[in-house]
Amino acid sequence: MIRTIQADDITNLVEKLCIEANCNLTEDIFICLNNCRSKEKSSLGKEILGTLIENAEIAKSETSPICQDTGMAVVFVTIGQDVHIEGQLLEKAVNEGVRRGYEKGYLRKSVVKDPLDRVNTKDNTPAVIHYDIVEGNTFNIVVAPKGFGSENMSQLRMLKPSQGIEGVKDFVLNTISEAGANPCPPIIVGIGIGGTMEKSAYLSKKALLRPVSEHNENSMLAQLEAELLESINSLGIGPAGFGGTTTALSVNILTYPTHIAGLPVSVNIGCHATRHAEGNL
Ligand code: SF4
Repeated sequence: MIRTIQADDITNLVEKLCIEANCNLTEDIFICLNNCRSKEKSSLGKEILGTLIENAEIAKSETSPICQDTGMAVVFVTIGQDVHIEGQLLEKAVNEGVRRGYEKGYLRKSVVKDPLDRVNTKDNTPAVIHYDIVEGNTFNIVVAPKGFGSENMSQLRMLKPSQGIEGVKDFVLNTISEAGANPCPPIIVGIGIGGTMEKSAYLSKKALLRPVSEHNENSMLAQLEAELLESINSLGIGPAGFGGTTTALSVNILTYPTHIAGLPVSVNIGCHATRHAEGNL
């Protein structure tokens, strides 16, 4: 059955989610930081994890941003094909929500209009919007502000099929090793394997949305995630890069069918403030 959704309701929801995402660390990451603190071998690492936990608690209680870099707004829209939007263009409704949310929440405006002339748009728009059309008449939005300390450390590689799983592991470990302290560890590692160049990058971003408490449904991929997490935590980078056993909280992999001649792999790094908030209309 066709359902009509008002563009204004989408704007209001995005406004709310921008503030919520920036000020509330998700429960799964908060619990994981606490668990990692009790297991961390380095005393300085333990102390830093304690500070990150305290920071997240203050941000939540005072509705202030977890980090000064309130990110570029990445928005995932999952829309049923039986939904009709009334009032204005969906893209405009989302961007208006971002503009209002960043203004109302006193969130830093970090977006420049042109990547080369670097003039700030002063309202944190435009967002990067990903659309997914599904069956039915549901409407779901996830706002995931992305800081660029971690985004800048992300990498993509078109591997040869013959490089296989070992090639994937080497590439991921090299990427995290090269990143060092820059992405504000402990990090969450989103990995997209397969598809085309851009599809793997999209998957690696989407993988960051999976709760750190969950494992891959595919047992082979779950094993690869666990193995990579252990290897990354053996690198010794540690919380804030000061050394320790907690470099990553989770490794999340998403895959997609690919071409016989290719093995695209993307690694999108999320920092200790990997944020997102979700809502439905
Ligand atoms: S990478 Fe994350 S924690 Fe570090 S400055 Fe950017 S948003 Fe903040």
